[in-house]
Amino acid sequence: MTDKIILNIQHSDDYTDYLLMTAGLTNNRIIPMVNPSSEKLKAAKDNNSKVLRCYTVHHPMYTWSSPVTGDIDAGSITVNTGYYLEEDGSINYHKAEIVRQSLEEMANNVLMANDNLREAFRHYFPFFWSSRAKIYQDPKLFFVDSGLYGQYISGEGMPVGAILKAMDEDPSTFQIRLGGGCSCGKKPLLIDYDHVYDAYWTLYTWCPVCQSRREIRAWNFARSYQCERAVEDAAAYYGRGKVVSPLNLFDLVDALRDSSLRSE
Ligand SMILES: [Zn+2]
Repeated sequence: MTDKIILNIQHSDDYTDYLLMTAGLTNNRIIPMVNPSSEKLKAAKDNNSKVLRCYTVHHPMYTWSSPVTGDIDAGSITVNTGYYLEEDGSINYHKAEIVRQSLEEMANNVLMANDNLREAFRHYFPFFWSSRAKIYQDPKLFFVDSGLYGQYISGEGMPVGAILKAMDEDPSTFQIRLGGGCSCGKKPLLIDYDHVYDAYWTLYTWCPVCQSRREIRAWNFARSYQCERAVEDAAAYYGRGKVVSPLNLFDLVDALRDSSLRSE
């Protein structure tokens, strides 16, 4: 799971440094740094950070080529400054803005990729569970998209609040008996599932009693419809469709952290 993007900007010209430093200015999960020392980079990084090295090249632009290219998996991005730095040394600000936005979009796409959101949902689930009373109080928090896609019923994303509420109201629908057993012997909650192929499923569980997490294979898993049904019923709490949350999953984490700081 990635919840922070560090742009490791390799110094080129002053204008380009400035331009790349302002990418993601309004997104606190994108952290730009120009030529950071390895100590600084290490301090800014944790297990859930992805570092993208930003290089520049300067050559004439062809209309069909893109000014920002990258191999995100390999962690590198290349900006062609020839796109906005004119021959006479002047700057085409309109084109520079396009470069800034493209870079920001690339970083944001890593965070908002569906697989990443689902991993984030599973990672933060214990925190969401312990904050569920707060989530129920505010429709904006309640309807944050979990990244889990409702395959059978609505065809829409499953709201975080509705998943929690469904588990709260009828835990037995989400409790599963594990082959190897949970560390504490109780039945853990099913917090996500993947239909891998044919009759193969992967189930993700978390136990509210002993906190253990499991990722297990299942055969012909039939409970997913029931779980989705329960989530859809819980979504009626505020009226599904009446509220659209402006927040994403990471905003929800921030909002809950802020409010727990305030109440301390
Ligand atoms: Zn347990």
